[in-house]
Parts: sequence; C-alpha cells; structure tokens
Amino acid sequence: MVQETIFSKIIRREVPSDIVYQDELVTAFRDINPQAPTHILIVPNKLIPTANDVAAEDEAALGRLFTVAAKLAAQEGIAADGFRLLVNCNRYGGQEIYHLHMHLIGGRPLGPMLLKTMDDRR
Ligand code: AMP
Repeated sequence: MVQETIFSKIIRREVPSDIVYQDELVTAFRDINPQAPTHILIVPNKLIPTANDVAAEDEAALGRLFTVAAKLAAQEGIAADGFRLLVNCNRYGGQEIYHLHMHLIGGRPLGPMLLKTMDDRR
C-alpha cells in the first residue's frame, strides 16, 4: 500500500509551505530545515515513494525535476557558482519522507559529497 506523506498535502496546498514553482507534473517548495542558503525540494505531483519505484511512465515528471532545478538555480542566483542535486533512497540513503523528491542545495560551498553518516541519523 502506498501511503501519502505531508508532501501530497503541500502539493494540494492543504498545508502551508513556501511553494516556489508548480506545474502539472511537479511542485517545488523550500525545505523547512534548510542545509544551505538555498534548499528547495522538487517533487513529482504523483506519489512515487522511492527511487526504487520509478516506472517508464514517470520519465516526463522525473525529467521535469531537472529542468525545474535548472530554472530555480538561475532564479536563486546559484547557477554559476554551482549547487548539488540529491535524491535519497530508503534507510541507508537517509530518506525521511517517502515521496520521491530532489533536493536543490546551494548558496555556499558544500564540501565533500557525503556530509551525513548513519551515526548522525540514529
Ligand atoms: P529526505 O531525507 O531526502 O527524505 O528529505 C526530507 C526533507 O524534507 C528534509 O530535508 C526535511 O527538512 C524536509 N521536510 C520535511 N517536512 C517538510 C515540510 N513540511 N516542508 C518542507 N520541507 C520538509
């Protein structure tokens, strides 16, 4: 059974959030606990729980995550310096919300790729 998360409510605008972009395929909103000056989550409107659950029919929405990320990076003024796009999957990947999402993180040097260890998340 696929269980809805808070992200479905955000997409339907049933709970408050700082939505910066929405179209028929994806919604983007600011992370409630930002790890950098820009930290935006870009989410397919369709509930896909994890990266393990993607199907061919989702390719348009998943491709849209990248085009919206590029648009938002330009809008945020972080495109030239650079940024990180991140998708966590399941427990070892550190996934907390089981509605697939891409993190757009930037606005400062981000350091090495793996910032968090399992110890930090216990
Ligand atoms: P992940 O670990 O990849 O599942 O990331 C989940 C992210 O969702 C975390 O960075 C949280 O800070 C963020 N988050 C959780 N609840 C909300 C919310 N209501 N609005 C915005 N971001 C949220």
